[in-house]
Amino acid sequence: MSVFQQDDFDGHEQVAFFKDDETGLRAIIAVHNTNLGPALGGVRMWPYASDSDAVRDVLRLSRGMTYKSALAGLPFGGGKSVIIGDPLKDKSEALMRAMGRCVDKLAGRYIAAEDSGTNVGDLQQMASQTEHVVGIVKKNTTGGDLRSGDPSPATARGVFVGLQAAVRHRFGRDDLQGTRVAVQGVGNVGLRLVQYLRDAGAHCWISDTHAERVERAADEMGATPVAANDILGLDVDVFAPCALGAVLNSDSIPDLRARVVAGAANNQLQHCTHGDALMRAGVLYAPDYVINAGGVIDVAFEHTGYDLEKVVAKVEGIASSLTEIFKRSDAEERPTSDVADALARERFMMQMAA
Ligand code: NAD
Repeated sequence: MSVFQQDDFDGHEQVAFFKDDETGLRAIIAVHNTNLGPALGGVRMWPYASDSDAVRDVLRLSRGMTYKSALAGLPFGGGKSVIIGDPLKDKSEALMRAMGRCVDKLAGRYIAAEDSGTNVGDLQQMASQTEHVVGIVKKNTTGGDLRSGDPSPATARGVFVGLQAAVRHRFGRDDLQGTRVAVQGVGNVGLRLVQYLRDAGAHCWISDTHAERVERAADEMGATPVAANDILGLDVDVFAPCALGAVLNSDSIPDLRARVVAGAANNQLQHCTHGDALMRAGVLYAPDYVINAGGVIDVAFEHTGYDLEKVVAKVEGIASSLTEIFKRSDAEERPTSDVADALARERFMMQMAA
């Protein structure tokens, strides 16, 4: 396999491979770009079918983080790490501590955070070996649901304000009273989103592969359950994907009846051309890495000095970033996903030129 010829290799600054026989750790850390600051990104643990799959994932995800941090206006670049292994079977405290030592070897060029397969406890193990970890500080806050440690509350808040901005842009409505929203996945982010939507007077239809999560959202939030396969084609105003990636593809886009897509899931477009397909289908798409940046904003502030007021202001700012993207997309007749990529590139490339 040639790393340089991989589609996902995008001039990454550094890709480091680590192996620790004592703990069984096999990990890759990719630093995509540090023009705006140290590379921030999660530690994903996944039973990759092959080393090439792991390389591909870490290259793709680290690049995505550069774009996400740049558009969120954070003083960070993009990085990511992957641990090859099953988090349910292969994870141990010793392994996570070994991962912490790997992160430490990059001497602050890469800052680690939580991702699929890792949690706050794992990051605390890593933090015993390196100071370059965020997402571990529990803050008691008054009057707000946003606090460091678990990034989900901040992500949910960002998705909510982003969804409001999209509804305002598409339907000219200033509030969400009576807005119909289909939420796919009511986990950490989706459930909180449903709560925000209910409080704003919207009605939610929900699906999840975990029956008890559906029951909880229905009982506690008055949401209407639907079968997992039916959620995408519902006659609603907004589709909010909060479960899986690649949900927007050539099969699903023709079935979409919602005129707005605004949700938390990462990598919602199966391929970048699907941004164009959505535009042609008359669907306003809130680019995933813009609308779901609340979590990275929350953990980033742990590194620069946690200040709840500043975190809240930045998370709320997701609405104005999206509105700028929507307006530019209309003016230039380009998909919102292309506009977001171009804006992000302007930010981190301009810094390089400066
Ligand atoms: P989660 O695992 O807590 O929730 C996801 C939910 O989706 C689970 O309840 C799962 O059962 C459900 N699900 C899985 N497959 C499904 C399907 N086919 N149909 C319906 N439901 C299905 O994850 P989360 O933390 O709530 O994150 C949700 C999404 O947002 C993920 O794609 C994640 O990568 C992305 N995201 C999360 C954060 C964060 O701060 N948690 C930040 C940025 C992006």
